Amino acid sequence: MTALILDGKHVAQLTEAQLSERVTTLKAQSDGRTPVLATLLVGDDPASATYVKMKGNACRRVGMESLAIELPASTKTNDLLREIEQLNQNPDVHGILLQHPVPSQIDERACFDMIALEKDVDGVTCLGFGRMAMGERAYGCATPQGIMRLLRHYDIGLEGLHAVVVGRSPILGKPMSMMLLEANATVTICHSRTRDLEGHVRQADLIVGAVGRPEFIRADWIKDGAVVVDAGYHPGGVGDIELGPLAERTTAITPVPGGVGPMTINTLIQQTVESGERALS
Ligand code: NAP
Repeated sequence: MTALILDGKHVAQLTEAQLSERVTTLKAQSDGRTPVLATLLVGDDPASATYVKMKGNACRRVGMESLAIELPASTKTNDLLREIEQLNQNPDVHGILLQHPVPSQIDERACFDMIALEKDVDGVTCLGFGRMAMGERAYGCATPQGIMRLLRHYDIGLEGLHAVVVGRSPILGKPMSMMLLEANATVTICHSRTRDLEGHVRQADLIVGAVGRPEFIRADWIKDGAVVVDAGYHPGGVGDIELGPLAERTTAITPVPGGVGPMTINTLIQQTVESGERALS
């Protein structure tokens, strides 16, 4: 058995071509206005700066504008809350991205939750999470939503599968688990206090690695024929799962790099276009 490669780079490129057309149509219908993504970067972490830059570049590739706001590392929670409130009130802004993580003196959860639901295109608010978990309309959290889009693109049926998600972070493991549940998978969520992780992983029809440790989930824990989704990315081009030996004995696999990674930014951009369409058309 040779695994189907779930090629996120390819799907993201296809989607960008469609998004460019949607932005062009919207511009023609709304006096040249485009969807606008506001990005908030607090502090001087170089990795965060790179991610924000990549998000701005992705906006430009589909003809959208972005508004980059940079705040000093000394920013306090109240300063950031005020900044977000202004963006909530700004009719020219359709999506707000607060780059995670923010400096430790800031209450990140309070700031995420200040983002208005209709502009929460990165899917980070408690309200959006709760609505999504209840099957109500909300923008999905970008990385897990990107994974769901990737699985859908390749027609991976999820109903009835036993999905095991390793990781329970607010931006990845938790929303991922709820999305899989909504798609009628039976979901096990594992974390750092889980007993017998290997035993849980062995039962997975679909495994999602969202641990943040290079090749932590070993190939020989994963059963033949499983669907393998690796959200991790580490120096040396490895993910959270030992993928090498799996390509010959699983059903489908996300490569690292080029699997989950490109789908995250693509989902953010797609959801901003949707928000722009709702506001402008
Ligand atoms: P995180 O916030 O550090 O969460 C890691 C999760 O793994 C936690 O829930 C933690 O459990 C669990 N964990 C840690 N050690 C474990 C162990 N020994 N056994 C079982 N579970 C363990 O990380 P994250 O932000 O969710 O990111 C996870 C991975 O996805 C990273 O590799 C990151 O680079 C990647 N990522 C990729 C994208 C993308 O766009 N491609 C976006 C986000 C994240 P506890 O809750 O018990 O501490």
